[in-house]
Amino acid sequence: MPPAPDPPINVKLLLIGNSSVGKSSLLLRFSDEQWLPEDEASATIGVDFRVHKMDVKGKKVKLSIWDTAGQERFRTITSSYYRGAQGIILVYDVSSRETFDALPRWFSELETYVSESVVKIIVGNKVDKEYSRQVPTAEAEKFAERMGSLFVEASAKTAVGVRETFRNVVEHIIDTPELWGTASPAEGKRGAKTKTATPASGRGSGGTMPGNIDLGAQEQAADGGCSC
Ligand code: GDP
Repeated sequence: MPPAPDPPINVKLLLIGNSSVGKSSLLLRFSDEQWLPEDEASATIGVDFRVHKMDVKGKKVKLSIWDTAGQERFRTITSSYYRGAQGIILVYDVSSRETFDALPRWFSELETYVSESVVKIIVGNKVDKEYSRQVPTAEAEKFAERMGSLFVEASAKTAVGVRETFRNVVEHIIDTPELWGTASPAEGKRGAKTKTATPASGRGSGGTMPGNIDLGAQEQAADGGCSC
């Protein structure tokens, strides 16, 4: 009998960033090659996650990509969201300075919840709105370099840069075997498990918000129910 093929490498990616920067839209564009008109998009909040298979550098990769499901609107993201992530996609909107200025807060949250070796990419989304750009490319590039992050500009609307974003992160993860070569990759830092993160100053009530869910169970559901 021929030897069984190697099982795919499981990779968990997270999308984070302020509300309305286009996280769900990027996920939909990448996984379903779909774009919902702006007026319909609000109905998609709560995409949660998608499973996607890819061949990268000769290896089979099974990606699970998680969306915040709108948790950030409540100014809190539960620490369990971060658990086991190997790649983080930090999204801002190039036409909104405020969403770019929020990135340091998201980075400080990452410092608390994920290991340093986790691959990060900053995505300046909505480049199709060049006419109302508020964040110059060079400024964002410089910031990304300072934060040890990859950088790309993209548009979920036109699909520019979307595939590249995901491929780029996964390639860097594959180049870092410590992230996927062990049974429990990139666990969040110890002691962080029961805390609730607060990316923006202000109130937070992790226990009652709709996004406070058992991601482990959902991930199993994704494994079982994937039709890809
Ligand atoms: P999220 O809250 O970060 O998940 O953002 P959504 O994906 O729900 O998008 C928020 C709004 O921005 C929606 O009206 C989207 O249609 C719009 N949007 C998302 N991506 C783009 C983009 O690349 N270009 C433009 N012009 N609008 C976008």
